[in-house]
Order: sequence, then C-alpha cells, then structure tokens
Amino acid sequence: MPLLVMKFGGTSVADLERIRNAAGKVQREVERGYDVIVIVSAMSGKTNELVGWVEQTSPLFDAREYDAVVSSGENVTAGLMSLTLQEMGVPARSWQGWQVPINTTDAHSAARFVDIPRDNIDRKFAEGFKVAVIAGFQGIGPDGRITTLGRGGSDTTAVAFAAAFGAERCDIYTDVDGIYTTDPRITNKARKLEKIAFEEMLELASLGAKVLQTRSVELAMRYKVRLRVLSSFEETDENSGTLVCDEDEIMESKVVNGVAYSREEAKITLVTVEDRPGISAAIFAPLADAGVNVDMIVQNISEKDYDDHPGSVTDMTFSVPINQVERARKVMEEARAAGHIAYEELIADTEVAKVSVVGIGMRSATGVAARMFRALADENINIKVIATSEIKISVLIERKYMELAVQALHDAFGLEAA
Ligand code: ADP
Ligand code: ASP
Ligand code: MG
Repeated sequence: MPLLVMKFGGTSVADLERIRNAAGKVQREVERGYDVIVIVSAMSGKTNELVGWVEQTSPLFDAREYDAVVSSGENVTAGLMSLTLQEMGVPARSWQGWQVPINTTDAHSAARFVDIPRDNIDRKFAEGFKVAVIAGFQGIGPDGRITTLGRGGSDTTAVAFAAAFGAERCDIYTDVDGIYTTDPRITNKARKLEKIAFEEMLELASLGAKVLQTRSVELAMRYKVRLRVLSSFEETDENSGTLVCDEDEIMESKVVNGVAYSREEAKITLVTVEDRPGISAAIFAPLADAGVNVDMIVQNISEKDYDDHPGSVTDMTFSVPINQVERARKVMEEARAAGHIAYEELIADTEVAKVSVVGIGMRSATGVAARMFRALADENINIKVIATSEIKISVLIERKYMELAVQALHDAFGLEAA
C-alpha cells in the first residue's frame, strides 16, 4: 500500500469541528488508496497552558515532570482524531509515543529520535486498519520516561515517521496555505512560494520562521522526505501548498528568498573584558555547560588603552534567548567570583529582535549586506549586532522596529513580485 504522513497542527485540531474537518481530509486519502499515518498536535493554546501550569507549580522544574505534563495535550487529540475517524467508518487506532515506541535520547524537553520500530504499526495496517494516529511531540527516553522534542516538535515527529515508513510524502497541514517569503501575518505583501530549497527553509526555521520546526527540515533533508506545507482550512490537492525540496528542483530563485524574524532575543554585553588568549573559552564554556543557547557573538577589541586598564581590553557582546538572560547572568557572576573572568559590568538588553534575510543565491552575489543595511538605514533603524553566514545575514535591532524592518527588507529585495 502507498503510505502518506499527514500532520495537523494546533489550530487545525483546535476543537471537535476542526478535528472532523481534518479527519475528512484523511478519509479522502484513504479513499484514494493510501494507508495514512496521522500526526496530531495538541489543541491550539493547550501546550502553552500546560507549560504555564508547570512554571507556576515549580519555577526551576524537574524536566522529566515538565515532559510528563506538557506531552499530555497530544494524547487527547490523538484519541479524539481516532474516534472521529472511526465514526466516519475509517478503521483507525491511536498511539502515544511510548506505545509505538518512539525511542528518543534522554534530553528532556529537547529530545531527539533514536529509532522508531515499525512492527507494531505495520501489524495494525496488516490487520486492516487504514490509519495510525500518532501523538506528536513526544517519545520515550532510555530511562523509560516520557520525553518531548521541543516546541513545534510535532513537525519533526511527522518527518521522522515519513522517513521510517518510506512515505510517499509528508504533508504538514497548518493555518496558512504554504510557506511564504516572510510571515504573512507581518505583511500582506508576503508571497507564497511554490517550492523552497531545504537549505533555505532550514535557515528560515532556525532564524525564527515557526512554520516548520528546524529539526524537521534537517531530517527531511537527510532522509530525502518530500515535505509539503498546506492549509487545513481549504480544499487541497496534490498541487497545493509549498514543497520543500532540493535546490536543483527549483527553476527560479532570487538572491534573497525569505525574511525571518525572532522576537525572543536578548543581547548581553560584558564591558571591558581582558583581551588575552583563552578569554572567549572562559566566557562561553560555562554558558554552554549551563545550557545557555548563545547565538550571535561579537568581540571588538578596544583600540584605546584605558588608564585604569593597562594592556588592551575588549567588550564581549552575545545574544541569548530572552528567557535565558537570568541564567546567563548567574553563570557570568559565578565565573567572575571564581576568578575565571573579569569584567566591569554586565549589560542585558531585553528589548531586541533578530531580523534575517536568507537566500542560497547569496553564495555568489555581492552587495547583499550593503542593500540590507541601506534599507534599514532608510527607515532610521539602528543595527546593534550583525552576523553572517554563507546564505544569511542577521541583525539585532530594537524590538519595536521589528515589523517595520521585515517589511522594509521584503520590499528592498523585491520579494513581493514573482
Ligand atoms: P501549527 O500549529 O500548525 O504547527 P504554527 O503556528 O507552528 O502552526 O506555524 C504556522 C505559522 O507560522 C503561521 O500561522 C505563520 O504566522 C507563521 N510563519 C512564520 N513564517 C512563515 C513563513 N515564512 N511562511 C508561512 N508561515 C509563516
Ligand atoms: N504542541 C506542541 C507545541 O505547541 C508541539 C507542536 O504543536 O508541534 O509546541
Ligand atoms: Mg508548529
């Protein structure tokens, strides 16, 4: 039997009516001759509520219990989806992660897949069941406890099942009808892409585009899964939505193909750090050990020798997720108290956002950075930190200008027109 993976995100299963709508799409594929693996998210807002309950109960929570609580939203929708399909006359069975079992690492709240044995589900298909409904976002660790895969993790569950079961395609049904040049909620000039290259989607996702979890794109790229994003609220067929695929499948491409943003950023500066070999290691090793996720790093040696600082000093600036500022501060203060580093002051700026432009055409084009900086300058937006890689340029700016920056860059790189 040909097999499809169909994933429905939170808004697509937000209530019983929407679950029925999603089940209708599954039924249609079954009628066309497919066995279907359905991956469901929790009802929209549910996971946030569960996270809130955990944080209120225990601010420095035990990650195993966080996973026990936060994974539960998906259990409800998996059972309801299976029941809905049964009511429609489609033989379906639901599975929680541990029942499959979806084996993961023990990194609670950020676990990765180890393997997904097929036997149990294959056996059910062989018995005549047409649909296996899987609770997304969760698995079971080597210690036998429930794990979760990080926010947005159901996308990754879907791609992992598509790879494990050799699915013809992995369809991600969501509340927009495809992947756009930027978040269509930020500008109505955003244009839907017919196709996007794995590398570009990977960058966009890791730079904040929530439409797909980064890890899901990584897996799809590695296992050559045909990954598609499409609307759960519209009539859809084989040509709907946006296909994420190899770069050579794409005929037309611009230098920049997408603009991404992330609101949840903060900038930390250590003022007047000693400029000596080993100083970066002394700063970033303890941050890494404490699980602080450092993104951009800028070190700028002060050319001036301050009177009270013989020898040269440097300021060290780096960005971290906004909810890790206090942890980073604590780690730095401990390193200073232990005499591993010295700095005058730690300044945390929690009013920043990151805006990035992405395009594989950047590998060979020149002047992209200049064009980006010109567009921001024309809007009077000050750039605080810059980071570049082969196919992206990111800037940190004041958060209140984030939407304006996205719009300006979308215009500057001509993304509106096909
Ligand atoms: P789901 O609950 O279905 O997983 P998400 O909220 O995680 O849905 O992802 C879909 C959202 O991603 C859209 O509503 C949109 O606001 C946002 N988004 C961000 N960047 C993009 C983009 N480039 N193209 C499409 N959607 C995007
Ligand atoms: N429900 C989880 C979340 O909100 C996983 C997902 O929807 O992909 O992050
Ligand atoms: Mg999502």
